[in-house]
Amino acid sequence: MDLHNEAVKIREAAAQAIEACRTIEDIEAARVKYIGRKGELTLLLRKLGEAPPESRKEIGRILNEIKDEITERLKSRRSEIEQAHRSEALARETIDVTLPGRRPRLGKLHPTLRVLEEIVNVFVGLGFKAVEGPEIETEYNNFDALNFPPWHPSRDDFDSFYVADGFVLRTHTSPAQIRVMKSQDPPVRVVVPGRCYRRDTPDASHLMSFFQIEGLYVDHDVSLADLKGTLAIFAREVFGPETKIRFRPHYFPFTEPSAELDISCLVCGGRGCRLCKNSGWLEVLGCGMVHPNVFKHVGYDHKAVTGFAFGLGVERIAMLKYGIGDIRTLYENDIKMLSHL
Ligand SMILES: [Zn+2]
Repeated sequence: MDLHNEAVKIREAAAQAIEACRTIEDIEAARVKYIGRKGELTLLLRKLGEAPPESRKEIGRILNEIKDEITERLKSRRSEIEQAHRSEALARETIDVTLPGRRPRLGKLHPTLRVLEEIVNVFVGLGFKAVEGPEIETEYNNFDALNFPPWHPSRDDFDSFYVADGFVLRTHTSPAQIRVMKSQDPPVRVVVPGRCYRRDTPDASHLMSFFQIEGLYVDHDVSLADLKGTLAIFAREVFGPETKIRFRPHYFPFTEPSAELDISCLVCGGRGCRLCKNSGWLEVLGCGMVHPNVFKHVGYDHKAVTGFAFGLGVERIAMLKYGIGDIRTLYENDIKMLSHL
């Protein structure tokens, strides 16, 4: 049979077969069938040697042209199929932009830290400087220099954490007063935020570790009126402009006279409710005029200077401010706690 005629038939059959391909597998099958190692056109090319010598070159050219044509058709049909697949996949995977998105959750400061910063900022606004002290203190700074008598119960190792002979995990931030006064002359105006430790069994209002903010103002002629005025501003800034305050006599070793500061109840405003146990008042902090013995310990002239000091529990303020009933919830790592803010 005439090689040329046969090649033309293969060319037409291949064109039709390639056109009918629907998948990449179909394309591959067509390639094998026509131009593969044992493909119909390949076999024809092998027969070229049988052709009469005068027409061999011409037929060879035609067969190669047909091979190129089939290769080209396979390639173009293949890319058509691939394109079609891509379009289908795109249509399937279309994103529904009308669905509401998921908002990323933003982090917030913990209520304790937030209140701590807020309180420190109020006092910084009044001219106080924020300083820090170490959490491991000498027994001397934590007790003796602050005029704690030897029989005071906090000195008992059932009430405080002693870490080595003469050293204790500070039970309050007040020893920082001693450090500050020993390092400078009056006037002194500092607030000391920090963590403190006591051997308390945790319950709704006690933890073994908690934050305090200590305040100290020492100068010539500092009076109880200055203390009251300063704390009145603090109470209004932190709890709201309607907040009233009152002093109740109290005892602390390092202040004389000593007082506890109450604020008008945040829930009932003073009429009486469950939170304030019908008293209309909430206890907020301890304060007083610096005891002359404390001045003696730091080398100040107790006849020439006077001062006031106060100390507050940050968790307690956060609980009052955000209506948190149990101090332990502040440390349970439940992210819902942050919804109070
Ligand atoms: Zn109340």
